Amino acid sequence: MLIYDSACPDNFRAMVRNAIGPIRTNPHLIRLPVDVRQGLSHVLDGDATYPCSIPSRSVMIGYDGKQYSGLGPSAYTAGACIWICRRTFDEGQARVNAVLLHELIHVLCGAELDSEVFENMMFHGAGATLPDPNDIRTFALKNWTGRWVRILKRGNDVVVRDPMGGDYQIPADWVAALTAQGALQGIPTV
Ligand SMILES: [Zn+2]
Repeated sequence: MLIYDSACPDNFRAMVRNAIGPIRTNPHLIRLPVDVRQGLSHVLDGDATYPCSIPSRSVMIGYDGKQYSGLGPSAYTAGACIWICRRTFDEGQARVNAVLLHELIHVLCGAELDSEVFENMMFHGAGATLPDPNDIRTFALKNWTGRWVRILKRGNDVVVRDPMGGDYQIPADWVAALTAQGALQGIPTV
């Protein structure tokens, strides 16, 4: 269940509520590991069966009205509290969908790499943004490994491997972003 900060304007709260459907019925949801899907269901549908470390099924949605320019964060998360910044609402419903999914992965204790990969699997070209230079530095520091996924090179491809052994070929614009950051060489080869 999502609990809304009363400081969040009504129309923005409605945008968060309207993001639940595009996450729960997303055609790419099936590509996410089963425990991620169970975790999302646990929070968004109130499914009580997920044996996770979240003390309650409730996630607070806070509102940060100070971050409204093109700079600064889209959202941030601590424990089971997600703050969504004004700029995200200004960018429209598709962006809110992608940002809510990204932050819910953090609530489920996913690393930046997990959040970025799952956001792009589900909302590439529909609200997802490319990893920025800070994200790419974080991926490298964590040895290209998240809680669920790893980035690997295989031939000329850059792939993401999930715990079920699935391969997800990362989009060309991700490869371009990694190349621009000089990060491709550091990625382990299969
Ligand atoms: Zn993140």
